[in-house]
Amino acid sequence: MNPIEKLKNGFERFKNEFHEINSQKSVEYTKLVKEGQQPKILMIACSDSRVAPEILFHVDPGDLFTVRNIANLVPPYEMDGHRHGVSAAIEYAVDYLRVEHIIVKGHANCGGIAALMKKGAVGDFISPWMSISNKAREEVLNVFPDLTDEEKRSACEKASILVSLENLLTFPFVKDKHEGGKLRIHGWYFDMNKGELLSFHQESKRFQKIR
Ligand SMILES: [Zn+2]
Repeated sequence: MNPIEKLKNGFERFKNEFHEINSQKSVEYTKLVKEGQQPKILMIACSDSRVAPEILFHVDPGDLFTVRNIANLVPPYEMDGHRHGVSAAIEYAVDYLRVEHIIVKGHANCGGIAALMKKGAVGDFISPWMSISNKAREEVLNVFPDLTDEEKRSACEKASILVSLENLLTFPFVKDKHEGGKLRIHGWYFDMNKGELLSFHQESKRFQKIR
């Protein structure tokens, strides 16, 4: 099907489900429109077309505030006057929406991380963006020199989630709420090969299957 037609047809289905029929969903959606959104979760996910959070987690409108970017990265807190889209979204979610959870959701077969591992992250914007995760790359190369390229990428996908979790805590408003027990931070990993969801376990320092 023509990709644009597919979108138009999809919107028709959305309208039928959420607007035109007096269903539970349309009642809830109307309430959201009138009263505003109050999502409890900020999810930071990759732009990869195979890992859309709303599809993976079967959530409804209003459930997730999302940021999607190349390789689901969180940059460190930088007050340099530049235009920080990800940081602005984090600030809005934490300070204005008062989300209770932030989930950094990485995934298997990530093209951004593959490029980073090969030092092939090129482009005016991709290369400096991916440098956020240089630390994860170096760590994997130093600690696991004997892994195959695929295993190294997979290890870097996970290590990179941890870099983003660390970077989240460089934002003063995140750190304060996290330390005050008002904000929980999670590192999740979707393995699209196995159809599994893993979560970083602070005590064991490992990613463990949760579904
Ligand atoms: Zn990705």
